[in-house]
Parts: sequence; structure tokens; C-alpha cells
Amino acid sequence: MNLALEPISTLRARLRGREICPRDILAAIRERVEELNLALNAYVHHDWDAAMAEADRADLSLPLGGIPVAIKDVISVRGQPCTCGSRILQGHVALYDATVIGNLRRSGAIPVGRLNMDEFAMGSSNENSFYGPCRNPWDTSRAPGGSSGGSAAAVAAGLAVAALGSDTGGSIRQPAAFCGCVGLKPTYGRVSRYGLVAFASSLDQIGPLTRTVEDAAIVLGAISGHDPADCTSVDTGVPDFAASLGGGVRGLRFGVPKEYFIPGMDPAVERAVRAAIDHLAHEGAEIVEISLPHTEHAIASYYIIAPAEASSNLARFDGVRYGHRAKDATDVIDCYAKTRQQGFGKEVKRRILLGTYVLSSGYYDAYYLRAQKVRTLMRRDFERAFETCDAILTPTAPSPAFKLGEKLDDPISMYLGDVFTIAVNMAGICGISLPCGFTGGAGARLPIGLQIIGKPFDEATILRVAHHYEQTTPWHRERPPL
Ligand code: GLN
Repeated sequence: MNLALEPISTLRARLRGREICPRDILAAIRERVEELNLALNAYVHHDWDAAMAEADRADLSLPLGGIPVAIKDVISVRGQPCTCGSRILQGHVALYDATVIGNLRRSGAIPVGRLNMDEFAMGSSNENSFYGPCRNPWDTSRAPGGSSGGSAAAVAAGLAVAALGSDTGGSIRQPAAFCGCVGLKPTYGRVSRYGLVAFASSLDQIGPLTRTVEDAAIVLGAISGHDPADCTSVDTGVPDFAASLGGGVRGLRFGVPKEYFIPGMDPAVERAVRAAIDHLAHEGAEIVEISLPHTEHAIASYYIIAPAEASSNLARFDGVRYGHRAKDATDVIDCYAKTRQQGFGKEVKRRILLGTYVLSSGYYDAYYLRAQKVRTLMRRDFERAFETCDAILTPTAPSPAFKLGEKLDDPISMYLGDVFTIAVNMAGICGISLPCGFTGGAGARLPIGLQIIGKPFDEATILRVAHHYEQTTPWHRERPPL
């Protein structure tokens, strides 16, 4: 048995039975990282000695006692580098733990390593990383998805038991789909963002990437909860997500939005997702066709709102307080300009320019305000849909993992890949992606993701549906051919 590939429930039982100790799990992960990270580039930093020392102090009676959880390089872990995949944060060490990290520690988990990502979480392929791209474990010539590509690749390849990612427009779910693992974006307000470096504050959420739905439920339970340090955190109860997984799907009603099967999507994706829907119907769920008519404006409005918020959030990276500082500046303004010119990559600059433009006087009403109105219409679409169904089934992404480099010179085609995930962030609701099949034919077999979208704060239902689907299908047992 390779401990790096076991689910949390198995590890927990063996830890509590004293068959293994937390060091054994870390050693198994370390071995795989040493063997495979050169090819995958999933971790950009690790400190095994520090993790081992923490492992020795772990309280095994806690829900995640002794379980290592790997962390996307955008979430602060005290004393560890936090660089958001960017040159501008080289040398920056986090001064405090994010609330999710404190919550993980309180559940007994050990935060390990820093996982590769698109710079400041802007991207869908992990190619916008100062550290170079992470690679897809199913086919290393392909992208792992983004922006949490390192998180998805590490989990899928057994370089981590579980990982945290962040999702602003799909960055947990899309890489989970590309790498064949489970990724959950919680409802806006469910998980504190204190200590998450902000990209687009009205959209960002932290969530788990895992190999099983049960593991996602366990990690979500550990990181959730009200936090006065994040004013968008909602003071609502945290259900025992793992305890409510067994309800099955009989009697549930699922909406299938007609707008989510579009011309131009990969036929293998459509086939697999339609088969998953049929399977759930066979298992006793009722399927109804629904309409989410404003989805067609999702990408256009997201690529106004997200860059607008990013242009403001990223103003703090000026070479004065954090990370990289230009050496040859003549005065403070020159220092800002040179630091940002040197420190930010191409995509981040593109977003700052776009965002500054749409917020500028005279354009604010025409772009930003208008996009916010469209956003309200998208939220109402979901509210109306949820009057007739308990959850919504869609593909996670219109295609399986694409080749590295394939979309690099065509940002619009990269943006279009977010078409099925963005509306969930815009409406502030929750969604999970899990494997629902593979591409066939010649070449590498690539995983395909099913997205299950839920009502606000109803993660319990999407986890329950996902768990039932997982347990009655073979996909989660497949491992990349490494
Ligand atoms: N791919 C989207 C973007 O580039 C979403 C990123 C994310 O969710 N962080 O903005």
C-alpha cells in the first residue's frame, strides 16, 4: 500500500490503530515528490524537516490528526514563502497563518509545501507561472488546468493526500476536471479568505482538491466556518458534511441547463456528461431541463469584474512593502513603475490594464456597472432554476486538458474555456467537479469532469450526489500512468 495514494479515512484509521505514524505518510509523499516533481513541477517549495517536526506533535484524535494537506502558493502559511507564482513576490515570507491554515491546524492537519499556480491565480493552464508550467500527470505534454494546476496535479499523482486551491472563475473545478480529481468551490462566505492573497474579492473562495468526495467533505468541514477577520464570511452553521454523504439520489431532482451543451464542445465531454446524467436518472433521480439564459454573458461580464477588482487589489505590490524591488530606480514613482514592469508577467499586466480601463471615469458605467447588472441577472437565473431542482448538472469544462502552448497566444480562447464554471462564482453559489469518464481513441486517455452546482450553503447536497455518483461508477479508481 502506498500511503501517498490512500484516502483520508484509511489513513486516519491506520494512524489511530498505531499501524503507521504521521511521519510515514510524509515520507511516502516526499518519496513521490522526489521521484515525480521534476517532471510535473507541482510543488514550487517544500520543507520536509519542518513538516516532519510538526507531524511528531500531531494529535491523532482530531479529525485530520497527522494528515498532510498541501497548499496553493496564494494562501499564507506563517514562515513559508508566499509568492502567488509571481516574480514580484520572490523572497516574500508569510507573517501569519491564513484562517484556513489555522483551522486545518486545529483539526490536526499539517500544511505542507507550496503548490504551483498561474500568477495571482490568473489563468486556466498554469502556464502563467513564474516557476514555469505545471504538467498534467495523465499526459505531461498537456496543461493541468489552472489556476490551481499544482494542487490538482499533486493530488492526482499522489504527491499530496489533499490540497487547498482557490477558485475565482473555475480555478479549483477546471484543474480538478483536467487532472481527474475532485475539486469543490464552496459558497461565497462559507470559507474565510483572511490570508488568501486577493485576486477578485467579490468572487474568490478557497476550497479542497482531493481524490475522493469523502475527502473533499472532510477537508471542507475542517476549513469552513465564520471568521470575523473576513467581513464576507457568513455566520451560518457548518454541517457535518462527511456524515451526510450516504443519502443517495433517489427522490432528488436535477436540472440540466440547455445552454451548457454548446456547439464546439468536445464530443467526448458531451458523451461522458450525458452518460453521467443518465446514470443518475437510473439511480433514481429525476432529471428536468432548465434554462440559465444569461450564461452567455458570463465570460464577458467576468472579464470586466475580475480584472477591475484585480487592478485595485494588485496596487499594493509596489516594491515598497513586499518581495521584489527594482534596483535602478531614480525616485519612488520610478521604483513603482520599474518594480511592476519587472515583477508582473504578461497576463497579470493585461488584466491590470483592462481593469484600470473599465474602472476609469467615463467608462465605469458603461462597463463595470453594466457587468454588475448582468451579474444580478445571472444570479436570478439560478434562483429561478433552484425553484424546480435540487442541484444542476453540467460539464466542468468544454474540453479535456489541452496541450501546453496551444492557447498561450490566444487569450480569448483561453478565457472561453471558463464558460461553464464562471457563472457559479458570479452567483456566489457552490459547485463540485468530479471525474465522469475519459476520452477514448488514440493518444493519452484524458479525464473528463462532471460539475454539480448547488444552492447557496448547500454543499451537503452536492457532496451527497457526488459521493453517490462516485461510489456507483469506476472512474475514481483510475490513476495516471506515471
Ligand atoms: N481562468 C479564470 C481566470 O483566468 C479563473 C481563474 C480563477 O478562478 N482564479 O481568471
